[in-house]
Amino acid sequence: TTSAETLEFQSEARQLLQLMIHSIYSNKDTFLRELVSNASDALDKLRLEAFRDKELQADTDDLHIEIDTDPEKRTLTVRDNGIGMSRDDVVALIGTIAKSGTAEFLKKLKETKDSAASQDLIGQFGIGFYASFMVADKVTLLTRRAGSDEGVRWESEGEGTYTIETVPDLPQGTSVVLHLKPEDAEDQLFDYTSATKIKQIVKKYSDFITWPIRMTEGEETTTVNSMKALWARSSSDVTEDEYNEFYKHVAHDWNDPLETIRLQAEGTFEYQALLFLPGHAPLDLFMRERKRGVQLYVKRVFIMDDCEALMPEYLRFVKGVVDAQDLSLNVSREILQQDRQIQLIRRRLVKKVLSTVKTMMADENPYKYETFWKEFGRAVKEGLLDDHENRTAILDICSFASTNDPEKATSLREYVERMKDGQEHIYYLTGESRQSIENSPHLEAFQAKGYEVLVLTDPIDEMWVDAVAGYEEKQFQSVAKGEVELDSDTTDEQKEEFSGLLTWLTTTLSEQVKEVRLSSRLTTSPACIVGDTNDVTPTLEKMYRAMGQ
Ligand code: ADP
Ligand code: MG
Repeated sequence: TTSAETLEFQSEARQLLQLMIHSIYSNKDTFLRELVSNASDALDKLRLEAFRDKELQADTDDLHIEIDTDPEKRTLTVRDNGIGMSRDDVVALIGTIAKSGTAEFLKKLKETKDSAASQDLIGQFGIGFYASFMVADKVTLLTRRAGSDEGVRWESEGEGTYTIETVPDLPQGTSVVLHLKPEDAEDQLFDYTSATKIKQIVKKYSDFITWPIRMTEGEETTTVNSMKALWARSSSDVTEDEYNEFYKHVAHDWNDPLETIRLQAEGTFEYQALLFLPGHAPLDLFMRERKRGVQLYVKRVFIMDDCEALMPEYLRFVKGVVDAQDLSLNVSREILQQDRQIQLIRRRLVKKVLSTVKTMMADENPYKYETFWKEFGRAVKEGLLDDHENRTAILDICSFASTNDPEKATSLREYVERMKDGQEHIYYLTGESRQSIENSPHLEAFQAKGYEVLVLTDPIDEMWVDAVAGYEEKQFQSVAKGEVELDSDTTDEQKEEFSGLLTWLTTTLSEQVKEVRLSSRLTTSPACIVGDTNDVTPTLEKMYRAMGQ
């Protein structure tokens, strides 16, 4: 019944493996966190599937994770009795990298020359199972899908190919056997056959895993982790390190989060939320198949990843967990979208995220907010179009480049505080780059009067400025559109004086322009082109054309 095959890794996977084998990543211990994280996910999935599918022939009696070390053979094994994988699963999940943004990541990595920067990039990408190859020169994976009779044996040295075959009599779930690199044998730091070392690593990175992680030494089996769901513990008991490690598990990120947000609701509808703002944007933030990052639990039982009902699209980068006490374990995505309680949770989460960012903004140390805005600002601004209820709260946390200080972005509040006497509007100019905006003749008169102009260069800016009426009763007004007149209007005499020229220009340019007008908006340039108040701007026009409209 066995049909052993040697298959090639998909090319992205091969490149990632090369990276891991010749690893420049300094913290090798993280491989264990990845394996335990996968084992925990596999147990979550099995519990849920067994609950939903009563026909499933699965053993759910003693769900746990086991770690074994063998100093003699120099192996380390991580075993779970979770959902397991079929042969096709193994080929698809282990033989390829399905993560969107992988190609971009590899490209960036190739272009990155210094090693600290490439480590940072690897950390951002988060390399799961393949992290095994930081410490092992051969990995054997044995697995059987719950409910199936057919076991699978997979083995690879990480060098481009793997073997896969069907084997009988495997226990349900997955074992990953690492054949540890001989060159690490002498190094205490990398002694992954030492039970003490393994316990330390588990404590440090995986303590919050809610399944027992067991180790056997001699006759005695102990559970190494405390198993408490972090979000159910009182926040004063949980250390920042614990939150950070939990974040890495839920977000599949290797770096610390920028901010941790906790929320607890008691009473008739009880729930806990533990949310994180990541320190960097995922590579797929603007890709079509992007996902939302919050997991749903019901009474500590994992229900689903990427729960879109809990976070609006524009906050898709928020990661974390929501544990609701009163939902049915049978809820589906469709039901959730309609569920009143979920809608209430979502409203509260959104407000909490926005207010957290506002607090970050008020902090003396601008680093956190600035990082947040640099990474996620473009996504957040989508909320100005989508989320009417929170429009003001979103405007409050926005910042924009402006002519006030080329080095420093401004909030709208700061802009309004600086407005000159007699200035009625919040002026802005959209364009492709700061430079093209600064060179624009449209700015001249505004600068001459000392009026500040927001410099908007994101494509999304073109859209929200049309949709959002204003901020603190001040309207947004493009300096490139319509008859923006600054108080010193042209006089009748001037109109008279130039009427001949204007008529001549209008006739000569009739193919190119609608109208030629005398204006006070220029100081040094002789002429400029303006759009009608309701025209689409050149950038938008380009966007529409690119979208084929
Ligand atoms: P990620 O966990 O971010 O999806 P990994 O590289 O860690 O990426 O794992 C890839 C996939 O392989 C997982 O999503 C999962 O479907 C599968 N997998 C890995 N380990 C296990 C396991 N112990 N049991 C079942 N499936 C697993
Ligand atoms: Mg993983």
